[in-house]
Amino acid sequence: MVFEAPGRPLVAADLARPEPAEGQVLLRVLACGVCRTDLHLLDGEVDVPHPPRVLGHQIVGEVIEGAGDFEPGARVGVPWLGWTDGTCRFCTRGLENLCVEARFTGRDIDGGYAEYTVADARFCFPIPEGYPDLQAAPLLCAGLIGYRALGLAGDGERLGLYGFGASAHIICQVAVSQGRRVFAFTRGDDTDTQAFARELGAEWAGDSLGPAPEPLDAALIFAPVGPLVPAALRATDRAGVVVCAGIHMSDIPSFPYEVLWEERVLRSVANLTRRDGAEFLALAPRVPVRTEVTEYPLERANDALEDLRAGRFRGAAVVVPPRSSA
Ligand SMILES: [Zn+2]
Ligand SMILES: [Zn+2]
Repeated sequence: MVFEAPGRPLVAADLARPEPAEGQVLLRVLACGVCRTDLHLLDGEVDVPHPPRVLGHQIVGEVIEGAGDFEPGARVGVPWLGWTDGTCRFCTRGLENLCVEARFTGRDIDGGYAEYTVADARFCFPIPEGYPDLQAAPLLCAGLIGYRALGLAGDGERLGLYGFGASAHIICQVAVSQGRRVFAFTRGDDTDTQAFARELGAEWAGDSLGPAPEPLDAALIFAPVGPLVPAALRATDRAGVVVCAGIHMSDIPSFPYEVLWEERVLRSVANLTRRDGAEFLALAPRVPVRTEVTEYPLERANDALEDLRAGRFRGAAVVVPPRSSA
């Protein structure tokens, strides 16, 4: 399924099987998670520099031609971070997520909404045993970026999650396992999602624009909704940290300085490092994180994306290519 231009649905196409370059694995795609970033790419809110492009950056694949550490038959995960130069001022400081030359899977490099793909073996991860393909796919962005956001939020006990989709449903489980108290903020009338959050261990779930039941030590904002920023700042205690975890957000309304005062911190999180990936994929089975997924056949990727936009499923959507491609 190919992205051709912003504002248009993906288009089904017969593509040649990609040829792996030096250092790349050739993968048969087993499953590919659907991410909100894909909607931002589709809508032109985040640029796709060189269309046409195969989107999809939460790939679980079977190695057909090996490279690096991966032998044929291995099951590997391909995340959003697809390539870095390793030499820029960020890579050399351990911030490869901010590499000035970074290339991203499903934006700069063809991704996983396809039957086959190639990926630089240095940026792939082994998939933990015990996770079926579908359940593993959302770990690769929803889980990874959420994990990085959680780390940047500090170790405060009272954690607010704004927007309870693919990322939050994973990070809620991680946070609860760390002994944190989780407060889930959703649209006020979204009682199904609030119930889902409570099932996963949130002690409270309610309206994101209403008052919090008590002050938060940290808040992670997953929904791309600018007005949530002052709402989350107002909900945090002194020295509280608010982390914006998405790649795009609608404009943030102005707010009085007093909601930031008293050493509250507002920051974003961008992309991932390979260390985030290795740490999170080691942690996930120990929690254990269980992902709730809705499966779509690859040719229905547009439906998966529109259902994500409309909030029609709980947890994460995953597209699966036809089995006949084996
Ligand atoms: Zn993503
Ligand atoms: Zn770099």
